[in-house]
Amino acid sequence: MAKTPIHDGIETSVELTHPDRIYWPDDKVSKQDLLDYYALAWERMKPFVANRPLALLRCPDGIDGPRFFQKHAWKGINPHIEEIADPEDKDAAKFLKIEDFDGLAALVQSAALEIHPWGTTTDHWEMPDMLIMDLDPGEDVAWSKVVTAAREIRDRFSRQGLISFVKTSGGKGLHVVASLKPQANWSQVKDAAEAVAHAMSADSPETYLSVASKAKRPGHIFVDYLRNGRGNTAVAPYSSRARKGAPVSMPVGWEELDGKIGPASFSVGNAASRLKASADPWADFFKAASPLKT
Ligand code: ATP
Ligand code: MN
Repeated sequence: MAKTPIHDGIETSVELTHPDRIYWPDDKVSKQDLLDYYALAWERMKPFVANRPLALLRCPDGIDGPRFFQKHAWKGINPHIEEIADPEDKDAAKFLKIEDFDGLAALVQSAALEIHPWGTTTDHWEMPDMLIMDLDPGEDVAWSKVVTAAREIRDRFSRQGLISFVKTSGGKGLHVVASLKPQANWSQVKDAAEAVAHAMSADSPETYLSVASKAKRPGHIFVDYLRNGRGNTAVAPYSSRARKGAPVSMPVGWEELDGKIGPASFSVGNAASRLKASADPWADFFKAASPLKT
C-alpha cells in the first residue's frame, strides 16, 4: 500500500479508519491528532518502544469508554503489531511488540492510548537496559518535594556509577530512569531499585514510603520500585495517557525541573512546539549506559 507521509520523512502504510474519531472528548483530541503527535515524537521515542514486549491500555471508544489493559493479541489485530514468544516460557501466550512507525500507527489505529513497555528489548530479554523509579506523591505533597525526591534518586544512582534521566508521568508524578548496560538480571535490578527506595524511606521516613501497602499515606511520596520485576511495565517516554487533558509522559532535562513543569504539563495538544524546537533531553540515554554493580 502507498505510504502516507505525515511530515519530515515519517510515513506509514497504516490507514486510520475514522481519523476524526475523538479519543479525548474534553480536549477534542482525535485519532489523527495522536498519530500526528507521534510522528513528531517517533525519532526520540523509537528506542524506548521498538522491539520491546509491550502492554497496552486500549480504549476503543476513547478515554470515557471501557478500557482494557492488554499484554496479548486480540481478534483482528493489525499485522504491524507482532507477536513474540517469551523465550523462558514457550507455551505461554505470546507478547506484543512493534518494530517501526507502522507499528506505532497500528497502535493508534487500535486505540492503544497508553504504551507500557518492559524495561528491556527482545535482544537481551533477561537483562534490563533501564531501572525505573516511580515517584507517586500522596495528597498534599508540594511539587518541589517531588522534584527533590527525583534529584535524590539521581544522586543515589550516581554514587553507584549510574546515570539517570527524568520524565513526567503524564499523571501525578515523575519517573526517574537509570540507564543500564544490559548485564544484570531482573532480580538484581529489582533488588537495586528496592535498596534505593528503602534507603530513602529509612533516611527520611517523614517524607518517603517504600512499602506499597502504605503508599496512600497523606503527605508522603511513595517511591515505587516495583516496575523492575520481570514482566512489569511502566508507561513509555512520549506515550500518551488515557486521562483528561491528553497528557503525555515527557522526557525533560534535569535543569528544566522546577516549579513551571508539572507532572501533566505536556500533552498531545501542546507537545509539538517542544518537539520541533528543543533538543532531546534523553538523546544520550543509551550512550550513558553503565553496568549495575551487583
Ligand atoms: P501516575 O503519575 O498517575 O502515578 P504512573 O504511570 O506512574 O502515573 P499508573 O498509570 O498508575 O502510574 O500505572 C501503574 C503501572 O501499573 C503502570 O506502569 C502499568 O505498567 C501498570 N498498569 C497500569 N494499568 C494497569 C492495569 N489495568 N492492569 C495492570 N497493570 C497496569
Ligand atoms: Mn506513578
